[in-house]
Amino acid sequence: MGELSVVNRMNATAPQRNDLRRPLVDTFGRRITYLRLSVTDRCDLRCRYCMSEVMTFMPRSELLTIEELALIADAFIARGVTRIRLTGGEPLVRRGIDDLARHIGRRLRGGGLDELTLTTNATRLAEHARVLVEAGVRRVNVSLDSLDEDRFRLISRTGELAKVLAGIEAGRAAGLAIKINMVALKGLNEDEIEPMIRWCGDRGFDLTLIETMPLGVIDEDRTDRYLPLDGVRDRLAERFTLEAIADRTGGPARYLQVRETGTRLGLITPLTNNFCDGCNRVRLTASGRLYMCLGHDERVDLKTVLRSGGRGAVDEALDSVLMAKPERHSFRIAGHGAAPAVGRHMSVTGG
Ligand code: SAM
Ligand code: SF4
Repeated sequence: MGELSVVNRMNATAPQRNDLRRPLVDTFGRRITYLRLSVTDRCDLRCRYCMSEVMTFMPRSELLTIEELALIADAFIARGVTRIRLTGGEPLVRRGIDDLARHIGRRLRGGGLDELTLTTNATRLAEHARVLVEAGVRRVNVSLDSLDEDRFRLISRTGELAKVLAGIEAGRAAGLAIKINMVALKGLNEDEIEPMIRWCGDRGFDLTLIETMPLGVIDEDRTDRYLPLDGVRDRLAERFTLEAIADRTGGPARYLQVRETGTRLGLITPLTNNFCDGCNRVRLTASGRLYMCLGHDERVDLKTVLRSGGRGAVDEALDSVLMAKPERHSFRIAGHGAAPAVGRHMSVTGG
């Protein structure tokens, strides 16, 4: 399976003009209200669970322009998408990101959008925080897998912890609420989970722990680093009082309140628990491919649709492409030496 032909499907299901504001609902009755917009697959770090040390990125000529990204965002908002997350790769290395945030941010003020957020490694957050806040961004997710300088470099291969911490501090000073994302890695940072909970609690940050997912070939075998979060939760329960919080935001995380530190702790467990029933999201790559699921390869080339038929054609394509949204992902850590479940890296699809 791979690229789906929109042209044929479009003819079969082309909506009437006055239908264009109909909400986007897939064949399983899930309403799509959340778009993850990857603005680049490039990154200034090389986190070892995410990428190889030597990566081949998309040629720049394949990228959607900032104007095209804005047009596609508008098309989704017109069809009921109320939350957009800018991501990548590292979104803050994309030239024009501030303009894109400003453009999309205008839809926050009565234009149909409820929230504009960003996932970043924070190396450049200090330079962008103020503009992001002015654009309407209120919270950001920051990846931070270790609070130890050497270990941070070991995991990110090229990262400087001090720069990331300065970015986080600048974000906080600019008024952004911060959620830390930490990928739990056996033998690499599992002993830092408890200190990270305390560090986040002290600063009023939420923390989400993520199981490593089999996306794209990397230099090592993910099986060696896979740390099931159900076991982590059981060990944490011996140290802390963990209270389940009912709110599920339609996202994949389950939330706990850590009573002693006040930290809101999210657990993203695609491998130990499937989270697809309430899925409300789709993902657009920087080259304009729309993926209906992180864990499947079916996609639609919205760049070609946009360039050949304009914004109206994108509107029309959205109905038919949603029919291809699969019921659930099929991730599993398949054992030593097995190929990843999905060939493309998280940095391409947009985390
Ligand atoms: N560069 C930004 C960052 O790191 O926050 C945004 C993109 S990154 C791909 C988004 C999130 O995906 C990060 O929290 C990262 O830790 C996570 N991630 C990347 N590869 C992953 C993998 N194979 N399994 C689980 N999480 C992964
Ligand atoms: Fe870059 Fe984010 Fe991937 Fe790390 S996780 S290499 S910061 S895209």
